[in-house]
Amino acid sequence: MREYPQVSHHGGAAGVTGSCHRLRLSDDRALLVDCGLFQGQDADHADGFGQLRVTFPVEDVLALVVTHVHIDHIGRLPYLLAAGYAGPILCSLPTARLLPLVIEDALKIGFTRDRGLIERFLAEVAGRLVALPYRAWHTLVDDSRHRVRVKLQRAGHILGSCYVEVDVLARDGGASGRTIFSGDLGAPYAPLLSAPRAPWGCDTLVLESTYGDRRHEARRHRRARLEAAIDRALANGGTVVIPAFSIGRTQELLYELETLIHRATDRRWRDLEIIVDSPLAARFTAVYRELKPWWDAEAHARLRGGRHPLSFANLYTVSSHEEHERTVAYLAESHRPAVVVAASGMVSGGRVVNYLKRMLGDPRHGVLFTGYQGAGTPGRDIQRYGPRGGWVALDGERIDIRARVETVSGYSAHADAHDLLNFVRRMRHPPRHVRLVHGERHAQQALRETLLAWAAEKGHGMDVTLGADFPNA
Ligand SMILES: [Zn+2]
Repeated sequence: MREYPQVSHHGGAAGVTGSCHRLRLSDDRALLVDCGLFQGQDADHADGFGQLRVTFPVEDVLALVVTHVHIDHIGRLPYLLAAGYAGPILCSLPTARLLPLVIEDALKIGFTRDRGLIERFLAEVAGRLVALPYRAWHTLVDDSRHRVRVKLQRAGHILGSCYVEVDVLARDGGASGRTIFSGDLGAPYAPLLSAPRAPWGCDTLVLESTYGDRRHEARRHRRARLEAAIDRALANGGTVVIPAFSIGRTQELLYELETLIHRATDRRWRDLEIIVDSPLAARFTAVYRELKPWWDAEAHARLRGGRHPLSFANLYTVSSHEEHERTVAYLAESHRPAVVVAASGMVSGGRVVNYLKRMLGDPRHGVLFTGYQGAGTPGRDIQRYGPRGGWVALDGERIDIRARVETVSGYSAHADAHDLLNFVRRMRHPPRHVRLVHGERHAQQALRETLLAWAAEKGHGMDVTLGADFPNA
């Protein structure tokens, strides 16, 4: 007989995209956590469309829990419903507000332009969403076989993000226990968000490992580095292009840029234009503003001081495609310094590509990366080859890189190796089983070493398995 609960994966076991994890409670009952899209190298699959199709069983799924609205965690939702999944979608209140916007955008890009179809689908999703408050148990089933409860806790990764505690009481002789799915964990001191707190404890932890082999540079230096990078552009009369995800990173950057402009004594800074060129990011920013109750204490202090961290005078939003084209052409030629924030965050598509095609060849301009660049993405190539005068292929075109390429890693929305270790060691009852997911193999291996060294020192029995050793089911 098999021992339940068991954890398996339909994505996100090895790479950092396509997150989809299954907690099996019995032969006919399971829980899904996230259902994300594959991107970059993870999406280079012999059968691209086949990879999107949901071929795993959905009839046994009691609920889908969504940890946050990044596309690599929810992007396969349309395919999941198409495959016949008819259960609820559990998430936090802010996620329930943000999710329809992301799905609508994903549908327009990858599925259909048919307005009627999109509306119907969104109505279907809205009917399934169950918004849960943080830190409260929600009972999913309570019958003669199981009691299953779910609790969401703040993950500090983007607004609405959570890690998920699943408490299983098996009344039919199966194994009971608590499993925690970390989702994506944030790092301390994220703009707008309070840091995640470690849970009380669990038996099994499914832990992300994006930066399992790295430490972030001092986060207190990051604002200065952001300022310095923009200062250089001000001096050169160039544009600083910041590729950023529309959700989360864009709003964090706006928050930081408002800080720098607010403090500036230099006129050039006070006049600096900050351009958000992404209709989606603009809509998200508007919703982020409505979700103020979930902002952290520092952001609330600013609001009380009469400041508007996400809607300040220097901020411009570009919406229509025509306006976008005009802005690209204007900034590429003019000598007026500006900062452009545009998606996608890894340059794998979106409007940022048009900026970079025009600007990468000119040393007056700069590209500033503030987020993780997945293997196989153009962002990773620019980051890697740019500083040595290399090139990158964008839209099938070879672009030589002469613009400055810089990376400020202190803005990562992900916990680093030290934060991940803290998440485990600050538990009152640390897990006996850890499965590392959402990281490249070398990151998983490094984090396993770190966790095992800590467990050995503590005399705590713990096994750590790598998602990379468990091929997607
Ligand atoms: Zn994420």
